[in-house]
Amino acid sequence: MTTPTVGVLALQGDVREHLAAAEQLGARGVTVRRPSELDAIDGLIIPGGESTTIWKLARTFEVFEAVAGRIKAGLPTFGTCAGMVLLADRLVDGIEGQETFGGLDITVRRNAFGRQVDSFESEVTFAIDGPEFADPVHAVFIRAPWVEEVGADVDVLATVGVPGTGDRIVAVQQGSVMATSFHPEVSDDLRLHRHFLNLISG
Ligand code: GLN
Repeated sequence: MTTPTVGVLALQGDVREHLAAAEQLGARGVTVRRPSELDAIDGLIIPGGESTTIWKLARTFEVFEAVAGRIKAGLPTFGTCAGMVLLADRLVDGIEGQETFGGLDITVRRNAFGRQVDSFESEVTFAIDGPEFADPVHAVFIRAPWVEEVGADVDVLATVGVPGTGDRIVAVQQGSVMATSFHPEVSDDLRLHRHFLNLISG
């Protein structure tokens, strides 16, 4: 593939940060708000922000079905924080009527860490082969979800230890769809975006 085009769902949230990360890695970054804009992209990022707002705006802008359909049809997709919530096939602690695009055979609990602490940072070790992930990723969690259950086809990429409840899953991948509970877009560490670009180019 030549220069991949990465779309960032631009309804609310950390849109600029993801565009910047994609461009720093040599991809073309474009915003996606309309169904037609999904035709021109090789991969999609669903940013951190607020999943309830992104869901409602996706319905308002009439882009919800198109996004869900493209993910189901195999569009490589990366969701961070709210984006993880929106990629979950099953959601716990959503608001009344909250829908997700789906795409990952996982159950996600929204605002899961919030009962103990709203925001925190942690060094997270990734189970991704190769020297690039030998060192942990410095991860910023903000009212983050965690993954409660994964289906058989889902790889757990990372966990964090939570006092009182043990290890919780904070990064997953199923084929070319991946998600993190935290916000790689707010750090200078581009390794997870590079991993996503590798999924796009297959
Ligand atoms: N708690 C938010 C939600 O439910 C996610 C927060 C975030 O993306 N930082 O979508």
